[in-house]
Amino acid sequence: MEDLRELYQDIILDHNKNPRNFRVMEDANRVVEAYNPLCGDRYTIYLKLDGDTISDIAFTGSGCAISKSSASVMSTVLKGLRTADADGWFEKFHTLVTKGASGEGAIAIEEFGKLAAFSGISEFPARVKCAILSWHTMKNALHSDVSTVSTE
Ligand code: ZN
Repeated sequence: MEDLRELYQDIILDHNKNPRNFRVMEDANRVVEAYNPLCGDRYTIYLKLDGDTISDIAFTGSGCAISKSSASVMSTVLKGLRTADADGWFEKFHTLVTKGASGEGAIAIEEFGKLAAFSGISEFPARVKCAILSWHTMKNALHSDVSTVSTE
């Protein structure tokens, strides 16, 4: 279990230091701001939708290691997916960071891939908003034209 925790820590540190898809997307057709006032995390999420497929996803901004690495891992998971599948991942990730990877209604940790790195967040309620911020923003970007999302 110790090794697993270290692996998860490494994933978060790596994505915080070298975030993937961290750039302005000039030809995005959805651009949504994310702000978490509790922590000061502030990001812009860019989506390029091709029909109901997320053909590209990127983000810029700054915040704590949890929020930045979460946005980075999310971008790698969702790129190329259909919106219904992205919604499915949102639900699964939400369950993971609010309820953890064990207990009633839990989803097997093996199904999460790199997202499993955030399974320990459920033990730190104050950080759940950091982890879920980019996901909420992405979901809103998929389903509306709103320009600002806060987790408040
Ligand atoms: Zn944060």
